[in-house]
Amino acid sequence: MNIEQLHTLFLKHPSVSTDTRKIVKNDLYFALKGDNFNGNAFTQQALDKGASYCIIDDKTYAINKQCILVTDVLKTLQELAHVHRKYLNLPIIALTGSNGKTTTKELIHAVLSQKYKTSATVGNLNNHIGVPLTLLKMTKNTDIGIVEMGANHKKEIAFLSNIAHPDYGLITNFGKAHLEGFGSIEGVIEGKSELYKHLIAHNKTIFVNSNDPIQLEKSKEAKTIRFGSRKTDDYEIYFKSAQPNVTVTFNNVEINSQLIGEYNFNNIAVAIAIGAYFNVDEKQIKEAIENYVPNNNRSQIIEKGTTKIILDAYNANPSSMTVALQNFGKLEATNKIAILGDMFELGQDANKEHTDLAALANSLKLSQVVFIGENFHKALSGSNLTYKTFDDFKTAYHLKTLENATVLIKGSRGMALERILELL
Ligand code: ATP
Ligand code: MG
Repeated sequence: MNIEQLHTLFLKHPSVSTDTRKIVKNDLYFALKGDNFNGNAFTQQALDKGASYCIIDDKTYAINKQCILVTDVLKTLQELAHVHRKYLNLPIIALTGSNGKTTTKELIHAVLSQKYKTSATVGNLNNHIGVPLTLLKMTKNTDIGIVEMGANHKKEIAFLSNIAHPDYGLITNFGKAHLEGFGSIEGVIEGKSELYKHLIAHNKTIFVNSNDPIQLEKSKEAKTIRFGSRKTDDYEIYFKSAQPNVTVTFNNVEINSQLIGEYNFNNIAVAIAIGAYFNVDEKQIKEAIENYVPNNNRSQIIEKGTTKIILDAYNANPSSMTVALQNFGKLEATNKIAILGDMFELGQDANKEHTDLAALANSLKLSQVVFIGENFHKALSGSNLTYKTFDDFKTAYHLKTLENATVLIKGSRGMALERILELL
């Protein structure tokens, strides 16, 4: 069966599953291999649960005619997604960046959904498997597609762009994330800019945040739509305040988001610009942004008794931690306490980045800073900072007695600092 024939089959069974635990009747099952599992081994289970066909790459599991044997299941999934993308013939907006991709994706989705049938990446499915799955969810009824692209090393965004062939693209920001894989911040910039390169090569359009000099520089040769806080921008969007919710103005309309952290201004601004570009009216843009509530511990505010908690425990890297801390420093509140957990995937930069962040936290004159994890512990032992570090968050339980405090909780996903909530 060639890829075109598989696509014809897919159109008859347009629901794809890669996990037999979640299969529903008529799904097309793709038997992917992971480090710890071989999807082929679940072929029978997939059929028992009602899969229409199974795409497999191990002939031992070719049980019946519903099993389609290919050379490489993952490659087939990616090729199928690309064929499907060409068949769809709709505008696709791709976004990448070091921080804020999912938040921005959700905001754009909310804004465009006011007027269009929009299909976007579900959750954080932004890699070499997630991007194909995202494309395969789109149908001839979809007006606009939105695809989040993640990467932790170079060439990944180029690869994902080749699958999705976006018509529009944007980079949320360039930051110190996944330094281990990218090598350096220059590596990050090069890696993320692969999206720009793809768009430029195909004469497609980039949404450029004119407040970001790197974006301006990297998009010099491109067809661009500019947004930001300058009179010359195509869409002028101004930051108003973040005490704590981010408020912005666009065409004299004030938009009060439910997002905290000044850094969310950029995420909101691009969603406004894209909405305006696709002719969503201002009132609807405002409504979409004001109704959007972040989830999954991404800059959420939680109140416990007299204590306000800014729960930003979804993930952390030096850039997002820096802006979160700076923002926390500016917040008008008393008795401010920061609980900061280790950042991962920093390679040889780990010590320096943890030390720098501790120094930043120290300079903010907070009432208390608590560091959790081995990386902070290692970086700070021997330093002249007076703060305590804890190897495990449970030892930080003295926070139980907090009253009338404002607390920032942030750390890498692996730290799962949201567990602290149970202790407070
Ligand atoms: P992932 O790499 O996991 O896909 P992401 O890029 O999708 O992450 P989000 O999930 O939207 O990012 O946000 C994660 C965290 O990044 C937020 O909780 C916040 O702390 C921080 N963040 C969000 N937007 C920005 C931004 N524009 N600049 C810096 N940090 C940000
Ligand atoms: Mg994400």
